[in-house]
Amino acid sequence: MYLADRFNRSTQRRLVLNTEKDFVKEITNMDKDFAQWYTDIVRKADLADYSPVKGFMVVKPYGFAIWENIQAYLDQKFKESGHKNLYFPLLIPEHLLNKEKEHVEGFAPEVAWVTHGGKKKLEERLCVRPTSETIICSMYSKWLKSYRDLPYLYNQWCSVVRWEKETRPFLRTSEFLWQEGHTLHATKEEALEETLRILEIYRECIENVLAIPVLSGLKSENEKFAGAEATYTVEAMMKDGKALQSGTSHHLGTHFTEAFNIEYLDKDGELKNPHHTSWGVSTRLIGALIMSHGDNRGLVLPPRVAPTQIVIIPVRPEKDGVIDEARKLYDEIKAAGFRVELDDDMSTSVGRKFNEYEMKGTPLRIEIGPKDIEKGSVFCARRDTHEKFSLARTEVVAKLQEVLDDIQQSIFNKALERREAKTFVANDYEKFQKDLAKEMGFYKAMWCGELDCELKIKEDCSATIRCFGEEKLGDKCLVCGKEAKHMVYLAKAY
Ligand SMILES: [Zn+2]
Repeated sequence: MYLADRFNRSTQRRLVLNTEKDFVKEITNMDKDFAQWYTDIVRKADLADYSPVKGFMVVKPYGFAIWENIQAYLDQKFKESGHKNLYFPLLIPEHLLNKEKEHVEGFAPEVAWVTHGGKKKLEERLCVRPTSETIICSMYSKWLKSYRDLPYLYNQWCSVVRWEKETRPFLRTSEFLWQEGHTLHATKEEALEETLRILEIYRECIENVLAIPVLSGLKSENEKFAGAEATYTVEAMMKDGKALQSGTSHHLGTHFTEAFNIEYLDKDGELKNPHHTSWGVSTRLIGALIMSHGDNRGLVLPPRVAPTQIVIIPVRPEKDGVIDEARKLYDEIKAAGFRVELDDDMSTSVGRKFNEYEMKGTPLRIEIGPKDIEKGSVFCARRDTHEKFSLARTEVVAKLQEVLDDIQQSIFNKALERREAKTFVANDYEKFQKDLAKEMGFYKAMWCGELDCELKIKEDCSATIRCFGEEKLGDKCLVCGKEAKHMVYLAKAY
């Protein structure tokens, strides 16, 4: 495509070789040890670090900038659909947590407790929120009076604590950043509509901004949120074939609103419990980005979420006019609204800079040196395909959007192709277990709906039902052979 005049091939090859060599030293090959590769990327791309408290991570500026981009996009979508942000306290009194039985049983094993205020023992323990349904409902019950107040469309950006035994940065940490929406509606239909509206916002954001294809659908009873009537999920497939639950939207019915005495006076003069939803995505999405697109040179970021979309690197910056020209180009690109960075640090070699921005997943690198200036062009390198091409200097700014859109789309296409290649049909239980042991991926199967069969799959091969699908592959359950009720996606999951 953008191949105009390729410059000095031998120089280019030399740089590539250096790059490869440096990287062999720096990160584990993903085909050899995917888990170690992941950890290496988190550290080498400077996304996060371990903290003095076991299981808690520090999100470093580069990782946080990715989160801020996700946050900004979703926040706008929430507001466009009528939601407002607010904030509830970090601590929840124990008696509130105990009000919804299924909910407390679901979260009890991973709750952190505050028992003292200063030196004084508290009369009632306070839990550090694992999620905020209970404290929010206690306040909604004070606020809600009339049908005229509905719907309540509120969201909060915060962190929650769930005490985890095994942790991995972004994927599972004892504290993580997220948003939690909590809405109230007059009817069940409206609440269900809201649940699905949010699910669609999540799907759209993850597919169009993060370039990760997802399945979206209903969770099984066993896999649903503690206290929910129905949980909907978006499920992504990572490069190793494992599933990653990337966001959930719960239809909570009146479970909490009854338990918390949330009532409103309806048009007909009767007191009613409103219908309730909650929904969330977290910094786990950064883990999804790493494992969906990264490669053996580092992170690969889609332009729409990348903190820096374009980096300009002056080549032979000591030569007259190079830095000036690079700065001029930087100003033009910045003025056109792109997230661009100019690396004019003279103390670092060009080869090292190439490595660094590849590790950070910067979608497009623009090199500008004396020869380019002479020819009236710049040299570009795509992070996703490693494709290199020249652009006429006068056309750079006008062409950039097209180039970035193409990178965005091809990152998505590649992930989709991989998911399709790793999606299988399972209709023989023995064979399914052998296949899954050999190759992880999504296995489509028919299921009778019985918990026994679901648990047997989990016990036999640690795969779970990720979500329901729409296809009809047959009429018998994969496990027991009885009449099938649902088509499901089975996978091992993070
Ligand atoms: Zn069955």
